[in-house]
Amino acid sequence: MAAGRSLSRSERKAAARAEFLRQEEQRERRRQVSRILHKPAAERSPDEAVLLSGSQEIVRDLERLRKKRERLRRRLEEVCDEPEELKKKVTKLSAVVRAAKHLIIYTGAGISTAASIPDYRGPNGVWTMLQKGRSIRAADLSEAEPTLTHMSIACLHKHKLVQHVVSQNCDGLHLRSGLPREALSELHGNMYIEVCTSCTPNREYVRVFDVTERTALHRHHTGRMCHKCGAQLRDTIVHFGEKGTLQQPLNWEAATEAASKADVILCLGSSLKVLKKYPHLWCMSKPPRHRPKLYIVNLQWTPKDDLAALKLHGKCDDVMKLLMDELGFPIPRYERTQDPIFSLAVPLRPEEEGSHSRKPVAPPAGLHEVQLEEQKQISAGPLAGGWFGRGCAKGTKRKKPS
Ligand SMILES: [Zn+2]
Repeated sequence: MAAGRSLSRSERKAAARAEFLRQEEQRERRRQVSRILHKPAAERSPDEAVLLSGSQEIVRDLERLRKKRERLRRRLEEVCDEPEELKKKVTKLSAVVRAAKHLIIYTGAGISTAASIPDYRGPNGVWTMLQKGRSIRAADLSEAEPTLTHMSIACLHKHKLVQHVVSQNCDGLHLRSGLPREALSELHGNMYIEVCTSCTPNREYVRVFDVTERTALHRHHTGRMCHKCGAQLRDTIVHFGEKGTLQQPLNWEAATEAASKADVILCLGSSLKVLKKYPHLWCMSKPPRHRPKLYIVNLQWTPKDDLAALKLHGKCDDVMKLLMDELGFPIPRYERTQDPIFSLAVPLRPEEEGSHSRKPVAPPAGLHEVQLEEQKQISAGPLAGGWFGRGCAKGTKRKKPS
């Protein structure tokens, strides 16, 4: 065809058709190559062998994709160290804990699985289920109690072996284990706390029930009002796609200060996929040899594994039990009568009774001074609303009139 002349309509159509056929042929060839590659080499016919040797580029590309899939699959696998191996590692860890000048702990959902709260990215985690399009049936969160790991951390803090705890969990279990609030940064909020942001300083209301049943991504009002100024209260939860701005319970200031002083970071039960995005927590502005030494306890792969001084593949409760043994501390038992939530909680006013339908944390027997709503029987269906049910669904935005 002559240069400069634009193509006629039929020529354009013919060119498009030829391109379509070329691509279709390419796709078919790729399918054939993929089928042949799935066969053991000995079972391939001479024709198939010829096709393979003539399609080196496709073979390389398919091989690259296969390796990538394999790598991703391995990362999701839960791996356990042999008991002997784990014990050896914990012995090393205990020496590090004893010698540390400023030890901080980062925790994720993996430390709460023993409290029957599903973790986030484990095989049956919230994220994994949502990715597979399944709904989440949650055990009633009000039944959850601090685990052996939560209790051990509070004990180590009391004995000044742990200086600060940064948690991604919203389940309030660190607070309920007796860890003082100033030693805790709850980066994604706390399901038992609602705040008035109209009051200065922000006025906090700790409750004995999950305050998030009406809240979701970008919708934070809990339906109750500030006793002081009458403004609407909001939850403290930071959903996917949001930036947390509250001072408490997020406590970013203390988290970054602790990280800047830390010589050891112990990560427990977190995939670190979210935490790795906060460079301050890892002192990334410091030269590598001045950064804190990293110890990771997690069953699955984490993006920080290559940087860790030691990776322990074990359940958090198993590791902490061994660690507390090595350090010679008995693990304090969780006692409901000592649960700080009951002394921190602001009781509902009579007109606020019925402003929620979540089962409250049952008070210890005989604790009559704590005003609690009558326990309501709620069905054990999937939880709707709140940080737990909605909001964490990646990419789904649902608007509902509030
Ligand atoms: Zn107020």
